[in-house]
Amino acid sequence: MIVIKTAREIDCMRQAGRVVAEVLEVLRENIVPGVTTLELDRLAERECAKRKARPAFKGYGGFPFTICASPNEKVVHGFPDSDPLREGDILSVDFGVVVDGYFGDAAITVPVGKIDGVRQRLIDVASRALHCGIERAVPGGRLSDVSHAVQAYVEAQGFSIVREFVGHGIGRQLHESPQLPNFGPPGQGPRLKAGMTLAIEPMINAGGPAVTILEDGWTAVTVDGLPSAHFEHTVAITERGVEILTQV
Ligand code: MG
Repeated sequence: MIVIKTAREIDCMRQAGRVVAEVLEVLRENIVPGVTTLELDRLAERECAKRKARPAFKGYGGFPFTICASPNEKVVHGFPDSDPLREGDILSVDFGVVVDGYFGDAAITVPVGKIDGVRQRLIDVASRALHCGIERAVPGGRLSDVSHAVQAYVEAQGFSIVREFVGHGIGRQLHESPQLPNFGPPGQGPRLKAGMTLAIEPMINAGGPAVTILEDGWTAVTVDGLPSAHFEHTVAITERGVEILTQV
């Protein structure tokens, strides 16, 4: 069942979303050659504490960290570690919080120093793909219009869509109904209406779409070892259209 949120609930989610956006901006400024993802994880935790927000991922299904840190060929759910990031890497950071019982969830992919042209284009296409999806999250449309818009844009750019992980409803739970794939034909699934809140999150690979999970049971990596990018926003569908909750 898709939970429709009241205006008051969306206001709570706006506050959670603002914290997510602010902390991701702090992280972005600190993603430089030499920093470790474990340092970024601790930084995220301190930034949450400052804002009296609880990290949403730590302990979720046993996930042991505050951020998911997925460099290069890692797609999602990477564990922060003590390896310094190197010039030319890209890093996907997925991060969520709970404020007053409501969740916000977002992801960014950030260049580490100067990166090559393919990685830059991958980041640009993944970011634009997210916005192609968001534009279709409007009252009266169908859920798979969002999926299709993401897929059509990404494949036209020559990159591939990860199938195994999907976006989701969000609210009092981190993951609510419906599931939101980043591929598929348009015009299917539930009709979109005001009060729905969704986490839209395309994961885009430079090479083939296939992914596999490492021995830690969490980290998804591309099978061909080529880089992957991930962007996510939590959005609310309103009478007037769509509002992005996880941006400052
Ligand atoms: Mg998510």
